Amino acid sequence: MSRTAQLEAGTTATGKIYCANCKNCKLVPSAVGDDTRYVLRVRCAAGKWRKRLGDEKLYKYFTVIRRSMDECDAYEPMGDENEFLQELKRSLPINDEVYG
Ligand code: SF4
Repeated sequence: MSRTAQLEAGTTATGKIYCANCKNCKLVPSAVGDDTRYVLRVRCAAGKWRKRLGDEKLYKYFTVIRRSMDECDAYEPMGDENEFLQELKRSLPINDEVYG
């Protein structure tokens, strides 16, 4: 399948979509404790990540590389997937760090 056809079908060469490589995957700070410190979370700006009862689901930033979809009609790739994911793996924290 050509890259264009893959994008139209909402799939990639690996048959998997990595949310980390999508424009809709947004990094957001989430306050903890007395609001002077925060942790990092990721959200899907297209509203595709939902809990069972319909509320929005956020994920811990350090797990973003594991977020994938078999297909997604709102996938907006940011560039070369392999290159991007390799760079991201190098820079991601290894656990849920607190900042501030
Ligand atoms: S739009 Fe789809 S591919 Fe993009 S972050 Fe949301 S669920 Fe993942």
